[in-house]
Amino acid sequence: MTTRLLGTTEADLAEAAEILRAGGLVAFPTETVYGLGALADDGTAARRIFAAKARPARNPLIVHLGEPEAAAAFAVFDARARALARAFWPGPLTLVLRLRPEAAIAPAVTAGLATVAVRVPAHPVARALLLRVARPVAAPSANRSGRPSPTTAAHVLADLAGRIEAVVDAGPCPVGVESTVVDLSEPARALLLRPGGLPRETIEKVIGPVVDPRGHEPPRSPGLVGRHYAPSKPLRLDARTVAPDEGLLAFGRDLPEGARVVRNLSPGGDLAEAARNLFRMLRELDASDVRAIAVMPIPGEGLGEAIRDRLRRAALDAGAGDT
Ligand code: AMP
Ligand code: MG
Repeated sequence: MTTRLLGTTEADLAEAAEILRAGGLVAFPTETVYGLGALADDGTAARRIFAAKARPARNPLIVHLGEPEAAAAFAVFDARARALARAFWPGPLTLVLRLRPEAAIAPAVTAGLATVAVRVPAHPVARALLLRVARPVAAPSANRSGRPSPTTAAHVLADLAGRIEAVVDAGPCPVGVESTVVDLSEPARALLLRPGGLPRETIEKVIGPVVDPRGHEPPRSPGLVGRHYAPSKPLRLDARTVAPDEGLLAFGRDLPEGARVVRNLSPGGDLAEAARNLFRMLRELDASDVRAIAVMPIPGEGLGEAIRDRLRRAALDAGAGDT
């Protein structure tokens, strides 16, 4: 299969929507990262996502919708869910809610769980495409399972060329890390399954404490444990020095000397800029001739929580957990 590279004209988006409606795979930009879309109400289409990404079938997919009102047909919203949707949709927030038993969502999408993850992305191209498709679209990040997420169409092609029908190119993604995933499927508590593009502190201003799921058995979100987002080279975190054969993923102005290759996430110490650059710079350092990658300390507040989470998981030993 040859992967079509599409732009963002009306004709391009009409073609992308047509491919999706026919059961094909189309990668498209969202404000977080590029997603790999397929119809969520068509099991054959949705299962192709797992094959193209080499993604384990037990790792459920996020259902993307063009407008907030469409989500109520699939998921049960309580007052907290309604408040978050009102405050942050469209935007980089995914809600895990109870699946309506009659909902037309393929079991492959939810990995057979009684819950469903839903999101309304804010990227204008994503919304235009989703509104044209007018059906729920499952869309995990458009990378090979375990690799850094794609923030450009070139990253998508590097991982998936020849395995998907098309990619819609709208340039780099403005947020750069995946959506924040909050589980509201139990009335008693809100769980932060994945820190992401919407900071935890911002969410807590609307619904109060959002707690870590650690210690929950069985794991609430199968895809959120183990090594992931990983370059092929070893990653060393919170590095204050750098070895001559290491590349440096820097943050701020106060850099250790001696790195062979340097990429600075944000010389000015801006976490939003760092998030935008994270996956591209990981890919660039991976493609350079360094043996390993040293990562300077990143503050943990705001978007820093998501950045640190991705780096921690990328640094796990290969074979740790499942991806
Ligand atoms: P991504 O591959 O970046 O789209 O990741 C989406 C993540 O959302 C997956 O790793 C899942 O673990 C999580 N997720 C999706 N659906 C559910 C669900 N029903 N319950 C818990 N987590 C979910
Ligand atoms: Mg992913």
